[in-house]
Amino acid sequence: MASVLVHQLVKSFNNVHAVHDVGFKVNDGEFVFFLGPSGCGKTTTLRMIAGLLMPTSGRIEIGGRNVTFLRPRHRNVGMVFQQNVLYPHMSVADNLAYPLKVRGFTRKEVREKLGEVAERLRIADVLDRMPDELSGGQSQRVAIGRMLVRQADVFLMDEAISHLDAKLRAHMRTELRHLQKTLGVTTLFVSHDQLEAMSMGDRILVMNDGAIQQFGTPQEVFDRPANRFVAGFVGEPHMNILPAEIRHEGARPVARWAGGAMPLPDLPHGLVEGSLVDVGIRPEHVVLAAPSRTNAGHGNVEALEPLGAECLVTVQAGGQTLRARLPAVRADRLGFDVGAAVSLQFPRDHIYLFDKAGGQTLL
Ligand code: ATP
Repeated sequence: MASVLVHQLVKSFNNVHAVHDVGFKVNDGEFVFFLGPSGCGKTTTLRMIAGLLMPTSGRIEIGGRNVTFLRPRHRNVGMVFQQNVLYPHMSVADNLAYPLKVRGFTRKEVREKLGEVAERLRIADVLDRMPDELSGGQSQRVAIGRMLVRQADVFLMDEAISHLDAKLRAHMRTELRHLQKTLGVTTLFVSHDQLEAMSMGDRILVMNDGAIQQFGTPQEVFDRPANRFVAGFVGEPHMNILPAEIRHEGARPVARWAGGAMPLPDLPHGLVEGSLVDVGIRPEHVVLAAPSRTNAGHGNVEALEPLGAECLVTVQAGGQTLRARLPAVRADRLGFDVGAAVSLQFPRDHIYLFDKAGGQTLL
């Protein structure tokens, strides 16, 4: 078991700066997710930690040991990637047992470990099959099993469960989380699936354009996003982000936007009358009501998407599109149709403000 330290890591492919100046520390036993849009550098970072790619510059330490220039097999890491290769001439059971046999485990120990892993990963019924007789999802689970039985210091997984069907994926989320905690092995997991990262990760490292945007617990990145990118990326449906101008109207400052004016709780330091900002509000906090003279905003319903217990309402207001998520019973009671006029309210405590130019969170 070991911590993972990454210091000023850079990787360029000719003119493509895939990763620039990335630094972080993953604690011993932590489960950390790399989350970000396609092409942001997640896989490149993971592959450098695995030793499959040589960094352009920077340092990687595992358990306090500088491994930057070591071959993958000398780093004692277990890996599962999107495409995994099982030994084709060995049965599933032998594929799983191989890493144990080479480490000198007795037959009884091997049998016990295999039984446990096969049970947890739901592959007990395919132990006698050959790899070419498995479905994609089954071979992926065998690859995960092969990683789990190894006594690696660190597990590295890249989109390891993305290809499984929804039900199996949900099962694997629970199992992997449980196994990771039981084994206590430091785990780095690349994903573009927020649900995966939010539900399984101790911490999430949010990346964009080859750089770290925020490194925090799921709750921190959701409740206190460091900047506009994180605010807009984490959360489904996405946070509404609306261009606005700071004004003093009445007793309180407001953010005047194309559809109205939102009262603000406070004015962050540095903002004055006329400052340009972006205002953020999550769909679950937008309050829709029948048209009234509320001055927070006015708009028209553009689309209604019933989601079972909830309803997603898209509203056009002053040329801006925003979304509100409300309980289905409330949507029924309001009885809006497409085209209906609505008024919008934005509870002060749920408003975020972002710097227009740099995107940093101001409020
Ligand atoms: P995805 O979620 O789509 O897998 P990612 O965040 O893992 O994306 P990377 O695969 O790390 O992204 O790629 C980061 C950037 O580096 C991308 O612009 C990609 O095109 C580029 N890149 C990755 N590998 C190479 C390579 N071998 N040669 C050139 N460019 C590369």
